[in-house]
Amino acid sequence: MFRDANSKLSLRKKLLILASVGVFLPLLILTYMQYRSLAELQNTTKGAFKDNLRQGLTNVERQMKQRLEEIAAQTLNPIGSIHLSSPGAAEELEKYFADAKRSHPEVKEIFAFASSDGKETNSYAYLYSDKFVKTAQAAFTPAQSRILSLFDNARVAQSFVDDKRKYLFLDLSCPTCPAGTPMRQETYLFYPLKELTRAEQNGFAGILLNEGFVSDDLIPGSIEKTINKYHANTAAASDIACTISDENSRILFSNVAAQNESFLQLNFDPPFSNWKVAIGLKNTNLDDLARDSFMRSAGVTLLVLVFLLCGIALTIRATDREARLAQAKSNFVSNVSHELKTPLSLLSLFSEILELGRVTSEEKKTEYYRIIRHESLRLNKMIDNILDFSKIEAGRKTYVFAAVDMAEVIEDVLSSYRYQIINSGFDIQTNIPVSLPPVLIDCDAMAQAISNLLDNAIKYSGKVKRLTITAETLGSDLSIEIADQGIGIPRAEQSKVFEKFYRVGNGLVHDVKGSGLGLSLVKHIIEAHHGTISVESEVGKGSRFRILLPLAPLVHTAAGDQA
Ligand code: ADP
Repeated sequence: MFRDANSKLSLRKKLLILASVGVFLPLLILTYMQYRSLAELQNTTKGAFKDNLRQGLTNVERQMKQRLEEIAAQTLNPIGSIHLSSPGAAEELEKYFADAKRSHPEVKEIFAFASSDGKETNSYAYLYSDKFVKTAQAAFTPAQSRILSLFDNARVAQSFVDDKRKYLFLDLSCPTCPAGTPMRQETYLFYPLKELTRAEQNGFAGILLNEGFVSDDLIPGSIEKTINKYHANTAAASDIACTISDENSRILFSNVAAQNESFLQLNFDPPFSNWKVAIGLKNTNLDDLARDSFMRSAGVTLLVLVFLLCGIALTIRATDREARLAQAKSNFVSNVSHELKTPLSLLSLFSEILELGRVTSEEKKTEYYRIIRHESLRLNKMIDNILDFSKIEAGRKTYVFAAVDMAEVIEDVLSSYRYQIINSGFDIQTNIPVSLPPVLIDCDAMAQAISNLLDNAIKYSGKVKRLTITAETLGSDLSIEIADQGIGIPRAEQSKVFEKFYRVGNGLVHDVKGSGLGLSLVKHIIEAHHGTISVESEVGKGSRFRILLPLAPLVHTAAGDQA
């Protein structure tokens, strides 16, 4: 039963069922699953976004450390190789401090505290701010003593900026100091010094950085480097509102105020553990961002789906086409065999009757001869069509063009059809002016095209047997129309009738036999002449085939000149 139903289905329906079950259904399920996973992703996006930001902040931290380490290495490291207990130390240091300050404008003060033997009498502070000062420990100013205690604090806090634990960092802010006063924020880098011979600590060097250094250089520079290095492609990077403040809630850095409340607040790791960072979004919020990302992914999925569906539709169309062609080819074989057999049987029948001498009336004999001639012509024409078609398919068909009067070609074709036309009761009307301008054509090929069109007009005429052949100049073209009042061609089939092997309805609409090659040959011939062929037709009312051929160039120019 299933096999019966299956064999009754048309090929197109079979393809559609196969595509629906084998392709569209799985595709639908996949799309649904993709939608579900995207919706889930929308929720995890928020978490992933925060993780990404945390990662970004770790990178900022690394960049800040790197920047501080670079400054310390360039300004403080060389001090380690100066013999601070030597008599010429002060002079050497003064020169070095002046150079270091000149090449590092971010340094406000540079200093070294040294003791040759740990005793107060042999301890000195060397400071360079505007000018070089050497002070013995006994005469330390409060500011110098403060630096000593700050170094101790930094050492206790172990606030190193580098992995080799060479440089210490200390950042202090004064909440009560009004803006613009000198000691509002102090940022120090310290470098413990070792006695070169005994490798014991015998002092330290350090720098005090400019007050704006953290806010204007260290933080923004590190954020920029991080964005360029790791997050250049993150569209959301420009949307992020980041505020960094110190332990006294003094804002050290802020790119813009967040539109909504910050969704991520955390403290940096040592040595910046006094600093808090708050992250929000400038013009949007995290939900909108997640929704945007969902919409984008859904859009891409939809686009891929559309492409996939188009691809499948095109594949089905191509398969359907191929299957129709295969079907048409098999119909062609059976139609042609039938077409060849009919005239052959008639030829054998009538020649046998004549051979046996059974026909006495001269009139009957003439009629039988005519039938034999007509059938052999028909056979000849069909074989010509098949041979020409195979030549065209193999690309071997050639044309010999000459300027010819088209009226003569039409007349020649008509005269070969005269018997058939009169015999089958056709009324034929020709509207061909006497002096048609010549056209460049291959006479045999054009005669074959006209003959195929006439043949069809006769074959596909019903009760109304009326043919009209019209030739006229239309602008720079010659128009030839062959019209009948026969069965007509449905609108949907009109463009297909010029395809090879194509036959309307394959015998369901009409049962006239044919090969399906006639019109495809006509189209090929006309296009080889740089012309066009078109059809206007209405079912039950008839068809009108129109050929447009360009006039021979010389004549065309002459006509143009006259105009
Ligand atoms: P065939 O050998 O089948 O006539 P053609 O290529 O000449 O092959 O024509 C293709 C199909 O176009 C025909 O099968 C027929 O259905 C339709 N056709 C062609 N000419 C006419 C016409 N004058 N009137 C109606 N149908 C036509």
